Amino acid sequence: MRFTRTNEQYLRRQMCEIGRRIWLRGLCAGCDGNHSVRMGANRVLCTPTGMSKGFLKPHNLCVVDMEGRQLAGHRKPTTEILMHLAIFKARPDVRAVVHSHPPHATAFAISGASLPTGIYPEVETFLGAVPTVRYVLPGDHRLARAILPCLRDTNTLILQNHGTVTFDVDLEQAYLKLEVVDAYARMVLMLQQLGSVRRLTQREMAEILQFKVRAGLPDTRLRERKDHRPGPKPQLRPGKSPLGTPP
Ligand SMILES: [Zn+2]
Repeated sequence: MRFTRTNEQYLRRQMCEIGRRIWLRGLCAGCDGNHSVRMGANRVLCTPTGMSKGFLKPHNLCVVDMEGRQLAGHRKPTTEILMHLAIFKARPDVRAVVHSHPPHATAFAISGASLPTGIYPEVETFLGAVPTVRYVLPGDHRLARAILPCLRDTNTLILQNHGTVTFDVDLEQAYLKLEVVDAYARMVLMLQQLGSVRRLTQREMAEILQFKVRAGLPDTRLRERKDHRPGPKPQLRPGKSPLGTPP
């Protein structure tokens, strides 16, 4: 397994910096959320439970193995560590996971409405269709099992009545997806006030998906294509979009 950054002190500082950005942008409240990064084949650095993400210090962080056993740190690891580990095990390409309760995306998670597709090229490219994971009590070990069917060909999930989880090759990329999914949810809420939307046409959407194939970007909607690696069936929740039926 190769890692672009193996220096633990660097990763500890980056974990605190990402926590600071999540808090400063209002993407968490209280002690919401948790994030983690892989440091080796059997070492994961994660946030502790019960601390604001805005004020983490490098020595507050915990190290666990891939079964969730604590290897280092004076504080207790996040109660949602098993969800992070399930993602790392299922997706060897993922090296960082960011979970939070960003207000706008979480409003969608609570409302039962899906984030619409087919209206905004940046989100189509960067996130694609965002699957929703069925509700499980936050922090419960069953969450790790519930997310498994949704992990292929996406890096962003909505957790029903809970929040979001984003994951990628490093902390920066996983964090940026959190920013984007919440900004998009906010945009959609504003669209509802404006009362009208110009949808991308089928041809415009096809162009975007073709670009994603060329760029090697994952998208749940590419599974049916011959030129795309087949995966297990996604567990997409049939939710109604506040903007009507996508193309
Ligand atoms: Zn949570």
